[in-house]
Amino acid sequence: MILGSQWRFTTIPHFAFGAEKGYDFKSLVASYEGIASVTSGLGNSPALVLNADFRPLSYFPLSLWAWQDTIKAVFLGRVNVVSEYDTVVHSPSFEIKLPSVISLKKFAPMDRSPAFTRFNVFLRDTFTCQYCNVNQSANDLTFDHVVPRSRGGRTTWDNVTAACSSCNLRKSNRTPKQAGMALQRLPRRPSAPQLQDAGRAFPPNYLHESWRDFLYWDSELDPW
Ligand SMILES: [Zn+2]
Repeated sequence: MILGSQWRFTTIPHFAFGAEKGYDFKSLVASYEGIASVTSGLGNSPALVLNADFRPLSYFPLSLWAWQDTIKAVFLGRVNVVSEYDTVVHSPSFEIKLPSVISLKKFAPMDRSPAFTRFNVFLRDTFTCQYCNVNQSANDLTFDHVVPRSRGGRTTWDNVTAACSSCNLRKSNRTPKQAGMALQRLPRRPSAPQLQDAGRAFPPNYLHESWRDFLYWDSELDPW
């Protein structure tokens, strides 16, 4: 799209910009497609997406939106900008600093039951073998039926657990009791918040400084 050539990007430290400047919202949304065609140099400016309660929508993977989606949501009025990069995106009629942290205006309920997937089982078990308690990479973990399928065990949240391959081999076609192998934790269906908590143990490699407060300071304080 030719519109793209009308956009340019610069990094201006401490460049003040706010909604009070009166952007031409309609024009921005109309030419939004033009932004998407100029992405060079901006690939590393995602926004951390917080729910309306200022907690990340997801910890693992961390809820990040590409800057294009972020700008679109800002101009559609769906999110508040909490923090910004110094990078400014320009169009012929307006400019805006790229948001680094945004929060949804409308709370997104997080209490849906998590999907029963291999990944979510590993996440629930924090990528740790539930027999020997050793942390493994996802590639080295296996999916163990606590009560083996040959003995009527089902593939459900409360009968499947993460196990390293050597524990899985050793346990073989036996129950934990028969194998003399104790489970660290009995497998249970996790709630969405429990799964979120497990995900918090895995910070991504790159954290923008403006994200840190929302990742590390949002745990509830115990009343005392
Ligand atoms: Zn093990």
